[in-house]
Order: sequence, then structure tokens, then C-alpha cells
Amino acid sequence: QSFAEIDLGMPLNENIKRCKYVKPTPVQRHAIPIAVAGRDLMACAQTGSGKTAAFCFPIIYGLLNHRFSRPVLSRGVRIAHPLALILSPTRELSCQIHEEAKKFSYQTGVKVVVAYGGAPMSQQLRNLEKGVDILVATPGRLVDMIERSRVSLKKIKYLALDEADRMLDMGFEPQIRKIVEQMDMPPPGARQTMLFSATFPTEIQRLASDFLSNYIFLAV
Ligand code: AMP
Repeated sequence: QSFAEIDLGMPLNENIKRCKYVKPTPVQRHAIPIAVAGRDLMACAQTGSGKTAAFCFPIIYGLLNHRFSRPVLSRGVRIAHPLALILSPTRELSCQIHEEAKKFSYQTGVKVVVAYGGAPMSQQLRNLEKGVDILVATPGRLVDMIERSRVSLKKIKYLALDEADRMLDMGFEPQIRKIVEQMDMPPPGARQTMLFSATFPTEIQRLASDFLSNYIFLAV
């Protein structure tokens, strides 16, 4: 099977070609059609399986049928309102996802911004002020930005949790729960959530049953 059969339309098809992706990986082949159809998803995916594209393509596809968010002025403070959030455990992984997501959304108008801990917040905040559709973030830094009223998650339509098992191993469960609580309680289907993890211990299954609704479990 080739990406031509998945057919995400223009300009995504063009960007997939530009990335020299011809054949979807197994996780992409199965996850992308499910996610594009709007279903919540819990997927088994190791590093190197192509999972980044598996959650980025459906998010970008969804955003292109949506108008772009821009920061709104509130009491003189710019609060960023991303439409999609990708949570990842580390600065390195967040930066990788950011780089890939930028390639995938080339010339679409979709803006991708990254925020991670262990680096000054000022530049990240300046990037957010220029507008953000997809925010890629580590949990601790995002909680910090939310508490400083620089980011609001009230408009989030797409949430992807990458390497969820690793985030729990690193002790991020309280931050993740705080972050998801910030999102408007959806009538079913208002927020689409995708959870990617290499392993499925009971803690991950509990996260899935708390955050996902009527989800499809994908093991490839
Ligand atoms: P990931 O598992 O998302 O970190 O992807 C691992 C590597 O495989 C990255 O360098 C991707 O750019 C590349 N990759 C992902 N999907 C494909 C594909 N369908 N065809 C060729 N390369 C891919």
C-alpha cells in the first residue's frame, strides 16, 4: 500500500512526497484512517515506527478543515490558544516532533510551536505570541505556562500523548492530569485524543479509560 491510497488531499499529499515517504509504516497504515475518521485511538508504537507522522497527519488534516487560531488579547496579556496539543516526555523528543510537524505542515498555514523545560521561557513565549495551531510540549513546562496564563487549552480539539509510558515513568502523571483537566469537558467527540505507548501496564490503561472515549486499540 502507498500513501496515494490513504490520500490526505492537498497540500498534505505534496508534503508527504516532499518528505520522501512513499509507503506508510504499519502504525501509519492503520492509525491514520482511524484518526482521520475522528476516532480516539490507543496505539502500540515503538521508537522508529513512524508514530510521529501517525498522529501529526490526522491533526494537520483536521486543522485544515478548520480556521486558524491566533492569540487573543486578554487584559493586556497575550494568551495562546492552540487547537492541538502534542505532549512528549523530553526536550529532545519534543524538538524532533516539532521539526517533523513543521515539514508536514509546510505551506499549509498551520503554525507549530515547541515548549520544553530546561531552557528559558522567554523565547518560547515570543514564539507562542506569533500564533500557534499545534503546540508540542513537555508536561512540566506546559503546566508552568498555563499557571502564568500564557497558554489556554480551552480550544484544544486534538490531543496526542506520545510515549505515554515514558511520561509516567518520569513522574509526569500529575502534570498530565492537570493539563487534560484544563480542556473543556467534551460532549463525546468534541476533543479527539490519541495515546501512543510502547507498553500497556495498568497505569496506561487507566489513563486511556480516563482520557479517551470509545477508543480503538491498535497493536501492530
Ligand atoms: P518516528 O518513529 O516517528 O520517530 O519515525 C522514525 C523515522 O522514520 C523518522 O526519521 C521519520 O522521518 C521516518 N519515517 C516515518 N514514516 C516514514 C515513511 N512512511 N517512509 C519513510 N520514512 C518514514
